[in-house]
Amino acid sequence: MERLQKVIAHAGIASRRKAEEMITEGLVTVNGEVVKELGVKVSKSDRVEVKGMPIYREQPAYYLFYKPKNTLSSVKDDKDRTVVTDFFNVKERIYPIGRLDFDTTGLLLMTNDGEFANLLTHPKYHIEKTYVAKVSAIPTRAQLNKLENGVILDGKKTSKARTKLISANSQKNTAIVEITIHEGWNHQVKRMFEQIGCPVEKLKREAFGFLTLGDLKPGEYRELNAFEVEKLK
Ligand code: URA
Repeated sequence: MERLQKVIAHAGIASRRKAEEMITEGLVTVNGEVVKELGVKVSKSDRVEVKGMPIYREQPAYYLFYKPKNTLSSVKDDKDRTVVTDFFNVKERIYPIGRLDFDTTGLLLMTNDGEFANLLTHPKYHIEKTYVAKVSAIPTRAQLNKLENGVILDGKKTSKARTKLISANSQKNTAIVEITIHEGWNHQVKRMFEQIGCPVEKLKREAFGFLTLGDLKPGEYRELNAFEVEKLK
């Protein structure tokens, strides 16, 4: 048995507080009856609807996925491109937590827990994300310092980052750079390197907080354990 507001929040419809408001406003029905009081518990067999829309309830599931390149961080595509869920053979209706670009590879979390996904993609959730970028220039220390101190993207400054020059190929004029950032803005790493005149050719996310890809190969996934899920919250 679970509290009604928790069921609604898990479905990703609203935060728990907002779900409570929806209940007291009379927008929620259980087995066809409006439930306005808080604290009501429902079982798996109860039919819950919010504004007339049924809520599907599944066991919460959490996966760590190694996204291959040329794959969309989405559950379907109207142009029929490969999407991340094509790689999963699971019964839950999962979706990605945030996005990696079509051509970016690496660590992507997947879940069916809307509350968890909302938490991890909230602008206030500042977990470290580490990327390895191949860039078509060899950045100087001064350029990397700029990235570390923050650059302005769309009028907002990125928070402190860490960088490490892994290798440089002076013949090809390319370099491999590791960068750890805290936000998850759109195309953030590519735009940051663009700002210092080092366009990104290839990008891979190696770590999300304490989670790494481990032994996974592109296209493979594993379940997160309960300890990992709790630690991310
Ligand atoms: N930054 C980018 O530019 N692209 C990604 O896919 C992830 C972070």
